[in-house]
Amino acid sequence: MEKRDCREAGAEGMPVVHVINGRQKKLLQGHPWVYGNEIERIQGEPQDGGLVTVVDFRGRYMGAGFYNSRSLITVRLLTHRREEVTEALIAARVREACAYRRFVLERPGTDCCRLIYGEADRLPGVICDRFGGVIVLQILALGMERFTQTIADTLMECQRPDCLVLDNEDAIRKKEGMACFSRVLYGELPREVLLQENGVRFSVDVMHGQKTGCFLDQKDNHRFVQQFCHGARVLDCFSYIGGFALHAALAGASSVTAVDISEAAVERIKRNAGLNGVQVDAVCANCFDYLRAQGKEKRRYDVVILDPPAFTKAHANMASACRGYKEIALSAMRLLPAGGVLATHSCSYHMPEDVFVSTVLSAAQDLHRQVRVMTLRRQDIDHPVLAGYPESYYLKSLWLQMLD
Ligand code: SAH
Repeated sequence: MEKRDCREAGAEGMPVVHVINGRQKKLLQGHPWVYGNEIERIQGEPQDGGLVTVVDFRGRYMGAGFYNSRSLITVRLLTHRREEVTEALIAARVREACAYRRFVLERPGTDCCRLIYGEADRLPGVICDRFGGVIVLQILALGMERFTQTIADTLMECQRPDCLVLDNEDAIRKKEGMACFSRVLYGELPREVLLQENGVRFSVDVMHGQKTGCFLDQKDNHRFVQQFCHGARVLDCFSYIGGFALHAALAGASSVTAVDISEAAVERIKRNAGLNGVQVDAVCANCFDYLRAQGKEKRRYDVVILDPPAFTKAHANMASACRGYKEIALSAMRLLPAGGVLATHSCSYHMPEDVFVSTVLSAAQDLHRQVRVMTLRRQDIDHPVLAGYPESYYLKSLWLQMLD
């Protein structure tokens, strides 16, 4: 049995990576990564960026993927099946990813979404966002680099954008041993990129903004907030370009305040309020200080949104991350009267859902206030969660109502 499997793997002409005993289970469940310390031995001489076959300690076939000795993730699996990794396979994956996004792009007034979400779309290291007529593509894994043209051509064919930009400036590329550059592959990049999300208009900076220019993972939560906003006083903390704030304003909020520490973001919020013809009070401040100050002034809001950046990028910082989430939850709850709604988020994969929820709920306990847990939501569906790959679930969105 063992011999047969090994020979079959070798017959594909690729070096063979043997995974240590115990790590086959996660691969069988669909996990796409093999870390360096999970490798028992390697048969043949894999090239960085080249294809390898992965087998378990008994020689059982686990899949095929890209090898990179310079990355902590030594192998990124492209398939768990016995199929050849070809340009046709990559193009089919891109087409499949785009086809799935119709569930988002067919929403009224929505012309933006994440088209490819890396491993979760079985295209390791490939990130692709659509902002209106502009598509931004990032290749973050060495093995995928040589498929750049295939991916770009397929995107052009399925999406027909006005402009396609390759934004390979990400620091992850350095870690993978790749050069950093960006280039317009097709069309012309407009000076200002305009997009629509749930009928709300935004101007975004695709080349200089954070991530690829806009946080697309909150689209569904942006529209979810609207049902609580009619006639409400709304405070959007960590607002970036005003995603929650503008949705709130267009839903008929009586007042909307948006706070961000970045001056560029605050300018963008003002610009976006103008684009939609609504009033938003855009404030440049540190939200920790701002929330505390609002409490001292005895300000009251009906809806408060907290959407901070990841407080932890590693498991080790969990305790300090929890303190951060708790502090802003405490300050926010002080601003909410009975009936007020708090939407609070954690976008760090390293913060487990149960820990995040109990941290936020402990803030209410400390204040001797009862709360109703309205719902626990996630990132929008164009950032899909791949079964067997828990890293793809990162955004927790907890909605509470103050009962007293
Ligand atoms: N809520 C946004 C996304 C927020 S991203 C949306 O729905 O699209 C996190 C934002 O927090 C960034 O814009 C960043 O500039 C801002 N930020 C980071 N630390 C901050 C702080 N201490 N105070 C205020 N804003 C902060």
